[in-house]
Amino acid sequence: MAKKRRGAGRRPPPEAPEVRRTRGPSTLGIHGLGREREPGDPVVLPIVQSATFLSDPVRGEAGVRYTRYGNNPTQIAVAEKLAALEGTEAAIVLASGMAATALTFLALTSAGDHVVASRLLYGWTHRFLAEELPLRGVGVTFVDPGGKRQWREALQARTRALFFEVPTNPTLRVFDPHSLSMLAREHGIALVVDSTFASPVNLRPVGRGADAVIHSASKYLGGHSDLIAGVVCGSRGLVDEIQTKLKLYGPAIDPHAAWVLDRGLKTLAVRVARQNENALTLAGWFEEQPGVKQVIYPGLPSHPDHHLARKILSGYGGVLSIVLEGGDAAADGFCESLQVALNAPSLGGVETLVSQPRLTSHTTFTSAERSAMGIPSGFVRIAVGTEDVEDLIADFEMALNAARAA
Ligand SMILES: *Cc1c(COP(=O)(O)O)cnc(C)c1O
Repeated sequence: MAKKRRGAGRRPPPEAPEVRRTRGPSTLGIHGLGREREPGDPVVLPIVQSATFLSDPVRGEAGVRYTRYGNNPTQIAVAEKLAALEGTEAAIVLASGMAATALTFLALTSAGDHVVASRLLYGWTHRFLAEELPLRGVGVTFVDPGGKRQWREALQARTRALFFEVPTNPTLRVFDPHSLSMLAREHGIALVVDSTFASPVNLRPVGRGADAVIHSASKYLGGHSDLIAGVVCGSRGLVDEIQTKLKLYGPAIDPHAAWVLDRGLKTLAVRVARQNENALTLAGWFEEQPGVKQVIYPGLPSHPDHHLARKILSGYGGVLSIVLEGGDAAADGFCESLQVALNAPSLGGVETLVSQPRLTSHTTFTSAERSAMGIPSGFVRIAVGTEDVEDLIADFEMALNAARAA
């Protein structure tokens, strides 16, 4: 695959013309762009549980279908649906969100290249960028994602990608792809966004100038906490390069898992709408409760990115965070007494999951470092599910009483 070195180390951006979304997210999640159907065809996408496929006896590798290649019919059908949902030319479905992230950067860079990334990232993504890419000769500079100036100042002659997450974990900061898209275009750099927390229901980054969108499909896209999967949506050119990395490194999604993802997508829009609604209701409710020092949710006017969130998001998302007055002891008491919400990492499923970043995603930081990152003592992240909000309120009210007693 000869592609990397072109001209004076600058390669053109992997053009991601936005493909207009001709149907709404509910319809796309169910039907995709639609296929030719005949009487007798199954209504539901078949699981093609086959590793290999018959090939033309006299044609070479070009036409070969093999499930590790990501061209199994079930894998392809789900990828096409996701491309339609994100409004991109193409997409590729992989075995996890980390596979999607890792292969994207392996496809975009080679030794001597450079990436600029937001400091506010999922922990394993941060480790991949900080530890793995340098082993492959790729330099990474981390910046505070808020201002365009930091990004511009971090650029190097061989910067290939700008990367950030939106909204971020667990302080739910919102950044606009549009604010960096000119910079990326000017310099021929790919703008890559991990939009896991937003889902294509709340934000379509390509519509705001991003070139590639990564999701951990283990979260909202799958939606039932029963699947590990990932996806990258972007131009055909980029997706082809990622597919080559897939063939080499091998994190293909099993056809059955791809089918589970397809099934999840059918209810994505209704689930996310309900999660948006439940989270907004809970955020407002928590703000009025004694013992709650702070509520962090982009839907609240008190959030630093509320104005931007109003402008670019269709919904504020299903995750909110609270800070309890009694500190970590209160947070422990709160979490221990929950009866409906479950203590578990992850997000995006129908069940409400609660976690304390000091014990999960941010264990490697000191409490002073966490405070500086906006995660003070008493911080609890709540990934809201689709339960009846009255039941969640009753559960959290009981837990707050327990926290105050702790
Ligand atoms: C969970 C997550 C990932 C990793 O996804 P896996 O499917 O667990 O590999 C990447 N980015 C974000 C923002 C996540 O929340």
